[in-house]
Amino acid sequence: MRQTLIAGNWKMYKTPSEARRWFHDLIAAKPEGQAEAALMVAYPLLPGAREVLEGHGVSWGAQDVSAHLEGAYTGEVSVKMLADLACRYTVVGHSERRSYHGESDALVAEKIRRLLEYDITPILCVGEPLEVREAGNHVSYTLKQLEGSLAGIAPQSADRLVVAYEPVWAIGTGKTATPADAQAMHKEIRTWLAGRFDLGFANQVRILYGGSVKPENAAALFGQPDIDGGLVGGASLKLDDYVALLNTVG
Ligand code: PEP
Repeated sequence: MRQTLIAGNWKMYKTPSEARRWFHDLIAAKPEGQAEAALMVAYPLLPGAREVLEGHGVSWGAQDVSAHLEGAYTGEVSVKMLADLACRYTVVGHSERRSYHGESDALVAEKIRRLLEYDITPILCVGEPLEVREAGNHVSYTLKQLEGSLAGIAPQSADRLVVAYEPVWAIGTGKTATPADAQAMHKEIRTWLAGRFDLGFANQVRILYGGSVKPENAAALFGQPDIDGGLVGGASLKLDDYVALLNTVG
């Protein structure tokens, strides 16, 4: 059984003090349901996340990591720093990193390698832009990204990898893939993982959908057999919406 994961991606929103208050409110409002809650926040918010959320059944993590272990890399944040802050997850290869910072699949693979060395589970984002979807090449495009981002990577176990399928045209746009379209891609991804690793591994890896998930469309998406939760931007910033997403899973 794969436990549904509702991973919030806060992007560059909320200050450390706003976040701290929000974390306290979440603990008060969080349901006892079956979904796992995790919040991917900006680096300065991580110490507060640890302080407030530890022991309350909510995980936290970063939205990126340096491929370097340490050194003269001004502005970067290392995996050792994230491990010291007890991050359970970290997002890598988000389309905003790929497009605004030119991150390649090879760089994403380096970052994944670092995270696994420090027992932090990568949430690997893949997904096609609009023109690729319109040309009908979304499956090959996404699987190629997956292949490049996992080149030479062998996670110790299936709980050491989360894949997030995020069609770029659905991120922050209000447009969502239909549950059937999302399911079709998730199935392709799981089949690819079975070939690259093995069937048992593929059946245990969680594959999240991301792209304008909100309480109104979550049940239909999360009800698909290969959709194991969401990587959620906008809706994860609002407490009521995030709690409603957690409540979607019985
Ligand atoms: C994201 O940030 O990964 C995302 C999917 O954002 P949104 O839910 O706002 O589309």
